[in-house]
Amino acid sequence: MAKFVYDFTEGNRELKDLLGGKGANLAEMTNLGLPVPPGFTITTEACRHYLAEGDVPEGLDREIAEHLSALEATMGKKLGQADDPLLVSVRSGAKFSMPGMMETVLNIGLNDESVYGLAKQAGGNERFAWDSYRRLIQMFGKTVQDIDGDLFEHALDELKGDRQDTDLTADELQRLVKTYKAIVREQTGQDFPADPREQMRLAVMAVFDSWNAPRAILYRRQERIPADLGTAVNICSMVFGNVGEDSGTGVAFTRDPGSGHQGVYGDYLQNAQGEDVVAGIRNTVPLQDLEGIDKSAYDELLAIMEKLENHYRDLCDIEFTVERGKLWMLQTRVGKRTAGAAFRIATQLVDQGLITLDEAVIRVSGDQLAQLMFPRFAKDCARKLIAKGMNASPGAAVGKAVFSSERAIELAAQGEDVILVRRETNPDDLSGMIAARGVLTSRGGKTSHAAVVARGMGKTCVCGAEELEVSVSGKRFTAPGGISVTEGDVISIDGSTGEVFLGEVDVVDSAVVEYFEGAEPDDELVRAVDRIMAHADSVRRLDVRANADNPEDSARARRFGAQGIGLCRTEHMFLGERRQLVEDLVLADSAESRQAALDALEPLQKADFTGIFQAMEGLPVTIRLIDPPLHEFLPDIVDLSVKVATGAATAKDRALLVAVKRLHEMNPMLGLRGVRLGLVIPGLFAMQVRAIADAAREVPGARPEIMIPLVAAVQELEAVREEAAQILANKQVDALIGTMIETPRAALTAGQVAEAAQFFSFGTNDLTQMTWGFSRDDVEAAFFSRYLDLGIFGVSPFETLDRDGVGRLVKLAAAEGRATRADLKLGICGEHGGDPDSVHFCHEVGLDYVSCSPFRIPVARLEAGRAALASDSSDTR
Ligand code: ADP
Ligand code: MG
Ligand code: MG
Repeated sequence: MAKFVYDFTEGNRELKDLLGGKGANLAEMTNLGLPVPPGFTITTEACRHYLAEGDVPEGLDREIAEHLSALEATMGKKLGQADDPLLVSVRSGAKFSMPGMMETVLNIGLNDESVYGLAKQAGGNERFAWDSYRRLIQMFGKTVQDIDGDLFEHALDELKGDRQDTDLTADELQRLVKTYKAIVREQTGQDFPADPREQMRLAVMAVFDSWNAPRAILYRRQERIPADLGTAVNICSMVFGNVGEDSGTGVAFTRDPGSGHQGVYGDYLQNAQGEDVVAGIRNTVPLQDLEGIDKSAYDELLAIMEKLENHYRDLCDIEFTVERGKLWMLQTRVGKRTAGAAFRIATQLVDQGLITLDEAVIRVSGDQLAQLMFPRFAKDCARKLIAKGMNASPGAAVGKAVFSSERAIELAAQGEDVILVRRETNPDDLSGMIAARGVLTSRGGKTSHAAVVARGMGKTCVCGAEELEVSVSGKRFTAPGGISVTEGDVISIDGSTGEVFLGEVDVVDSAVVEYFEGAEPDDELVRAVDRIMAHADSVRRLDVRANADNPEDSARARRFGAQGIGLCRTEHMFLGERRQLVEDLVLADSAESRQAALDALEPLQKADFTGIFQAMEGLPVTIRLIDPPLHEFLPDIVDLSVKVATGAATAKDRALLVAVKRLHEMNPMLGLRGVRLGLVIPGLFAMQVRAIADAAREVPGARPEIMIPLVAAVQELEAVREEAAQILANKQVDALIGTMIETPRAALTAGQVAEAAQFFSFGTNDLTQMTWGFSRDDVEAAFFSRYLDLGIFGVSPFETLDRDGVGRLVKLAAAEGRATRADLKLGICGEHGGDPDSVHFCHEVGLDYVSCSPFRIPVARLEAGRAALASDSSDTR
């Protein structure tokens, strides 16, 4: 029979799928003998059942009751018992951490009677008991009963006036409880539930439901977390940081999540509970100060942090509470970190002997490497520093200051770069943070919501810039020296230094890009990247090539580590002043005039290829013969019509208009293009092949590979192959002739196509369009966000290769192609070639190389290395 509840002593960190990250790690800490308040975890399976069926699975209530009884026995108290109550928290906890996205309710078990029992437990501390009670009603009201949290906040603010929450007396807090209960009655038409078990049951279901809260859905989509995992629920006996000044609560990292350096990093807040530390209600103190406040708790915490780091062999972040001098561990997990810290920490751990270089490669990701390649601010240009905050999440962001998420989204949708400025952010700001180039807050530390979420998203963030006075309602902030910034003014923020500048600051290449460009690795981060890249290169099986079609891009691609060109498009070679030659070609009314147009193009093409062969110095260069429909090169039909109508047209214009009308297509993507052009326009492909062959003869060692696009049947390929092979033979040039596999039919008949092809290159952009039956340009704006909302796909199939559909065609074509021709070379040249998950897929199905844009090459190299090492290679997070 299914087991839906696990005591903390029963689980371990491997059980994240079932117990969620929080539950699995609470169990792990419990079993390490660390001071964790006892409790139990309801599985994600129970949540999935609840979400699917609208009701908890059979037997769950009984299991919870049994575990609660056992917990009561352990604690020697009964849940909510009037004279000596056990209190618990009900905490969400999914497999992947979603900071602040779901719900937690503390102090379950309090009511008008047990509040006195709680005071008695704390030596008659009524203030503490009423503070705990008002927190319960507030959290329960907001998260379980869906009451607007501001109603409670306002009541609290009114009572506080200019004082802090800790200044409130027991009497005042008791009055606040009355007010809160009235709010609940007014908003729900019912009394606040006094029955502790009822409180717990409702809270559990609210946590289940919070999995599908809009902000949780948005966060999952952003972080590519599957929508169907569900959350676990942890029931944890309460410990109290709000008993008095000898108590408190804090968060800590075993290393600096920004730089990776070892040390004591964290924030602590005396006489506080739960979220107070990260919510910025009062100013926290640096964790080091705990040493002066409570030396023994501090020493124990540091010892535990070291133990955790050695045990997890990674940076851990931690939540803890001190209750009257006693330290309690409430959470740990392998902590989020910046991209730079990920590389530094991985190599530091190698040097400490905690992990191997193989593991170091797995610990970092292509997405993180991509972040390190973002530009940074120029140092040597005029810039006006107006404030300095904490360097919460690195990067250089420039944009117009906006003060609300709505405005951020609005302006971003109009194509504006914006910086979201807030006093502090909360989970409702998520969509604004996504829309913004960067986030700036005036309150909160490196563990604040803004910082944690921005780091997770790789978004530039400066937080806690306390010199700034932010007025959200006034849509402005002021900085020292009488500087005032209002909505729409441009600011620049540096998430690596914490600096805030007025106006736009120039950006320059990152140190990591300079390193890839050939600079010596001369700082810690670049050396870490260098070591990890070298190891990834040494273990990967996939080659990495570039999509490049000019000598400059080819040269950069080589510096970035490209082992060839996987896609050299030839169509740009028909643009600019050469358009006119294409027009001549289209208008040619005799074999002679057509040949004349082609003859004029040929030397130009040859020069293009010569430059690329030279840049690639003997590495293979796959050249795709012309692919787009010819009307793309002709003048716009409207322009021509206007000219004709106004009498401004030349004879050629009039002829062009006729041609444009003739060539007009309803579905250009499915029309006269690719190999079809080669078959319809005599001499076109032959001209290109001659240009390639002549260029190859001029550049010693050149290795051209000729690629025919849009083939659907082997007969098409045979028809153009013959002529090309003949030209190559006449010119004594050695070149492979192959095809793109980008139509479903080519994939399905790959066994036949391989008879005529020496290589396949999967053109997964077109293959995705044709397999799904939608045209990218039309659908992305029209309905992709709806599809993402509905979970039809978790990520656009144009971004990450759709394994189930398109991937299946790739797999089949690779296998059947190789069955025909054992030495068939296989690659991919769609944009997927630079996407981490897709690179893993290409590794798994046995391709020889991936090809991607020059800037993505390091990412592809790293991910190819990770794919070769990873056991679960589908998880690229
Ligand atoms: P989140 O996933 O948002 O971090 P948590 O479940 O960790 O939510 O809880 C929020 C806060 O409440 C944390 O600061 C945590 O330390 C605190 N907390 C949770 N359970 C308890 C407990 N049993 N005793 C004391 N504090 C708790
Ligand atoms: Mg937590
Ligand atoms: Mg194509």
